[in-house]
Amino acid sequence: MFDTLSDRLTSVLQNLRGKGRLSDADIDATAREIRIALLEADVALPVVRTFIAKVKERAKGSEVSQALNPAQQVVKIVNEELVEILGGETRRLNLAKNPPSVIMLAGLQGSGKTTLAGKLARWLVGQGHRPLLVACDLQRPNAVTQLQVVGERAGVAVYAPEPGNGVGDPVDVARRSIDEAKHGQNDVVVVDTAGRLGVDEEMMRQAADIREAVQPDEVLFVVDAMIGQDAVTTAEAFRDGVGFTGVVLTKLDGDARGGAALSVREVTGQPILFASNGEKLEDFDTFHPDRMASRILGMGDVLTLIEQAEQAFDQEQAEAAAAKVASGELTLEDFLEQMLAVRKMGPIGNLLGMLPGAGQMKDALAQVDDKQLDKLQAIIRGMTPAERDNPKMINASRRLRIAKGSGVQVRDVNELVNRFFEARKMMAQMAGRFGFGGPGRVSK
Ligand code: GDP
Repeated sequence: MFDTLSDRLTSVLQNLRGKGRLSDADIDATAREIRIALLEADVALPVVRTFIAKVKERAKGSEVSQALNPAQQVVKIVNEELVEILGGETRRLNLAKNPPSVIMLAGLQGSGKTTLAGKLARWLVGQGHRPLLVACDLQRPNAVTQLQVVGERAGVAVYAPEPGNGVGDPVDVARRSIDEAKHGQNDVVVVDTAGRLGVDEEMMRQAADIREAVQPDEVLFVVDAMIGQDAVTTAEAFRDGVGFTGVVLTKLDGDARGGAALSVREVTGQPILFASNGEKLEDFDTFHPDRMASRILGMGDVLTLIEQAEQAFDQEQAEAAAAKVASGELTLEDFLEQMLAVRKMGPIGNLLGMLPGAGQMKDALAQVDDKQLDKLQAIIRGMTPAERDNPKMINASRRLRIAKGSGVQVRDVNELVNRFFEARKMMAQMAGRFGFGGPGRVSK
């Protein structure tokens, strides 16, 4: 998602570099290019117009003409306006002071509501809550079972009507679920509602009735970012028919142009709270307008990277490793552990993609494949604990054995061992210079 837009915007803005002063003609030309890039990415026309008008007005003003580096100032303006379009500040989920809080999900069939219910439940558990999922999509065959499956995967309770128990009315189910939550000491209720393939009146009425019955703290409109311009019309229909307090974008991992995602908040006036980027429960996160804008402009998303790292690394383990790095005592076992921790954060290409400037290194990134890391892991696993602990003992015959055991060439083992020594030496020197873990003792 956003790759093409990101490439276009980056190159438009790069063309400005090296220009000392910017004439009005330069700014007009840049604005024109940005406009084309946004329209090609499927951003809704009124949104493009507002955006371009703001960028132009600011770029022709004194903040650019008096800037030391006018081109950089324009990049800053585009970034700030993009953040604004995406909603400005990160909007957090509103939960009630008196539990249970109620979160209702609404959207078209296939937009990803049921999957989202599972993702949200998992996320809420991570935040220390005890969510209850409620199946109010009683129209689509399997919807109830599907919710039960995601609930089980997320490790949370699901409330659904018993078949043949006479509780087939979604409004009734929603209402009862609140009592159920109170009994089960669930502090957040997530209500999954029915969707249709297209917007229709009955569905809207049902959703509005559920809303009326349970008075949710949040109504989240779930929208598939891949449906393009339709996302905007659907959002408007839901805003008028049911009303919502926030938006969740799903399928941001798709290769569509992504303009819908950029339009929904500006068109509906409601903030984007979360974004989903995959089918798995963990492919989900709070939506941060500033981080998204940085990614779109190829400026990287270092904050998300840091957060993922914090989750993947055990603090004690990381400190122990840092101390070993500093003293030059890092072993291949430590190296393997660190590598496994990094890999827990996701495919290596995705991680590198979050770094600033990554957009321009795409070809290089394509070559950093996970297979190379698999190979390194296989080689280290082929070593005995003593060898991992003291790589200096890995002589020629041991190298041959390791290569055979892990299905690689001897030169692969040689390369790994040599690189490890080089890296260990360099890291110890750096650690010494930056002063962590005491003075570096470099062992060769
Ligand atoms: P619902 O009808 O709104 O409840 O939609 P579902 O939750 O059943 O989702 C419809 C399809 O989209 C399913 O196949 C999901 O696995 C898939 N899906 C949901 N969210 C995402 C996402 O963020 N990325 C991708 N690639 N697929 C998703």
